[in-house]
Amino acid sequence: MNVHKPLVSLPPIRIHPILWLFAITAIVTGTFMELTIIFSIVVIHELGHYLAAKSYHWRIRKISLWVFGGVMETEEHGSRPIEQELWVTVAGPLQHIWIYGVIWLMTYLGWWSSSIVEMALQYNTSILLFNLLPIWPLDGGKVLQLLSSTLKPYRTAQSITIVCSVIICLLVSLTFMFFDTLPLSTVMLVVFILLENRLEWKQRNYLLFRFLLKRYSEKPTLSKTSPILVQSYDSMFQILKQFRRNRHHHIFIKDGKESMWVDEDTCLDAYFAFKQHQAKAKDLVRLAE
Ligand SMILES: [Zn+2]
Repeated sequence: MNVHKPLVSLPPIRIHPILWLFAITAIVTGTFMELTIIFSIVVIHELGHYLAAKSYHWRIRKISLWVFGGVMETEEHGSRPIEQELWVTVAGPLQHIWIYGVIWLMTYLGWWSSSIVEMALQYNTSILLFNLLPIWPLDGGKVLQLLSSTLKPYRTAQSITIVCSVIICLLVSLTFMFFDTLPLSTVMLVVFILLENRLEWKQRNYLLFRFLLKRYSEKPTLSKTSPILVQSYDSMFQILKQFRRNRHHHIFIKDGKESMWVDEDTCLDAYFAFKQHQAKAKDLVRLAE
């Protein structure tokens, strides 16, 4: 018997508690149409990310939906080329272009009332602009992290992204407060974004080691090589936090007047295979022999 695999198998979709809260508010206040429009736009946006990721055969763990956006969790953790991840990230915002087309078509055919058209236009624009803000974990924040990763080590790029995100988030909130009062929904979004950034900051080292473990186990082909310069007494962590995406590393170890180098594979083997967590840079030379 043939078992047919569906062409597109959807991953588990999780509704964030904040969205349930909005749904209840919408039912109570009778703004159900508004919620349906927002939810549809967010789902189409996430489908953009999902289909782009699937086209590259990414492993997707789940999609979380929250108001004004969502997050697609994958099993890739920085092991894919930056250009690929950039494309998956922009595939979400790109969906809003054809949504504008649908709204225009519905207006042209006269199938939607003017109030629905106006609402759809307003939400399509605001969800698009909101997601483009350079704030983690929004798409703009992901682009910021990917661009930082092209210039800086993985861990530094993450730190830069979080610091910029928090500053920009607070500046945008203050600007809103200056021109208008902050509605409760916006306050909830700001709190949500700040909590996400706090979590990301606390998990910095865990995320770095997850990225390195992926690199160690999958050994991606990296055509460009760049050096990491360390002193003989530098710790493993001081070396590992200089690892970059899209770059293969040669580690140059300076010991007095002498200088030696080892390949990054020796360093990753020392850490993950031989559990040399307390080793110093000079110990890598011995392990390479
Ligand atoms: Zn998105």
